[in-house]
Amino acid sequence: MKKRWIMCGILGIVSESGEVSQDIYAGLWSLQHRGKEGAGIATYDGNVYHEKRGMGTVEVVFGGEVLSGLLGKIGIGHVRYSTAGGSTLENVQPIQGLFKSVPFWIAHNGNLTNTKKLRQECVKQGYFFRTTTDTEIIASLIYFNESFGFEEALYRALSRVEGTYALVVLYKDVIYGMRDLTGNRPLVYGEGRGIKVLASESATCDVLGMKYLFDVRPGEIIVMKQGSLSGAYGDQMFCSTAEAFQKQKFCVFEYVYFLRPDSIFDGRRAQRVREEMGRNLWRESAVDADIVVPVPDSGNFAACGLAKEAGLPIEMALFRSHYVGRTFIEPLQERREKGMRIKLNVIPELVEGKRVVVVDDSIVRSTVIKRVINMLREAGAREIHTRISSPPYKYPCYYGIDTYRVENELIAKRLNGDVEAIRKEIGADSLHYLSLEGLRRSVMEVPGNKLKANNFCDACFSGNYHIPLKDGIFGKET
Ligand code: SF4
Repeated sequence: MKKRWIMCGILGIVSESGEVSQDIYAGLWSLQHRGKEGAGIATYDGNVYHEKRGMGTVEVVFGGEVLSGLLGKIGIGHVRYSTAGGSTLENVQPIQGLFKSVPFWIAHNGNLTNTKKLRQECVKQGYFFRTTTDTEIIASLIYFNESFGFEEALYRALSRVEGTYALVVLYKDVIYGMRDLTGNRPLVYGEGRGIKVLASESATCDVLGMKYLFDVRPGEIIVMKQGSLSGAYGDQMFCSTAEAFQKQKFCVFEYVYFLRPDSIFDGRRAQRVREEMGRNLWRESAVDADIVVPVPDSGNFAACGLAKEAGLPIEMALFRSHYVGRTFIEPLQERREKGMRIKLNVIPELVEGKRVVVVDDSIVRSTVIKRVINMLREAGAREIHTRISSPPYKYPCYYGIDTYRVENELIAKRLNGDVEAIRKEIGADSLHYLSLEGLRRSVMEVPGNKLKANNFCDACFSGNYHIPLKDGIFGKET
């Protein structure tokens, strides 16, 4: 069940012949799970830009005749869940910047961690911020480097920022795509049908009928335009490629939850990694039981792996409506819970009198799992054993999902990681989380390309933050 944190999805498309707005629109649909608060597209038709940004889902923002006005063979798009900055129209991306009086557009997934000082510095120099996003700080730094060419200005801007980013930047007839030096956020490249695409997930390439070809390397700037593709700074940008790969800290939570199950990153399909998590979870926490029930959709694949390992039947006893909006953004707990009653229901005949192993990917506030356990009990389940395919989420994320804003609501933090206390609070007969070691093993058991065991960020589970919050995040005292 989609229940809480989402981040952002980005993409950029260049076509050799046709208009790109329909493909960007379809691509944004494929990334909708990464953010439903706002969506935007900016295109360039060779003379002028066209843009449309709005609050809500892709369907809501680009309904009617909107797409026909987004002319051009090149453009970028963004789906947003508000990370840094509030949930307002002006913060919806792509964000516009100015370079030598010519606009450019940026779409960002990630979170910068030294924005407080940089923002103050830019304001002092006379920059007028129109948004409260960290992304506009990159735009302002590009603006202050306009004595250079655009690529050089972009490079100089990025060398000032810290934190995580995957970016696509549209400047006239060129798209620049890049990932931060730690490669924390995904960005992949694909092509086909005379079209080149940079996107947050490989599933976008599938949806658009293209071939996913490679992951953008950490610290690399890809330059994409009609007739050519190059890694502009590539090895030279911030350090050597070898060094960049060593320093990489890809977000392990992408495999736990964010990536679509059909997406591949670093050669690993998310579905396979989630199944391994389920298998390892069972190895660590086998219990006498009759059936396995996934919490849809987030627990589906871990439950498959767990059921295979356990030799137990899997029952789809929980039904999730896909037509109800997210509960996470509802500001009041009461409203969240009401939302969930229409979102999730149980099929009682499947669980009555049974010893149930219920599987989900994580517990954040515990709203969802408590509701699930209540429903299963009311439906007559004899025992309810809760299994979670990641470790307790104890530490807030500063790198893109901004759980520091709900830090005090994280149940594992509030209860000091005491699993027995959490079990009591959620009302399960038993509770087990996948160990950190088990999580790391699960990822590595699926053959990948470059990422080694130490190339993953797992700070929200381990507390090992690889990027310190030196200057502070704008809007948060640190
Ligand atoms: S702290 Fe967690 S969610 Fe945030 S980047 Fe690291 S692994 Fe991902």
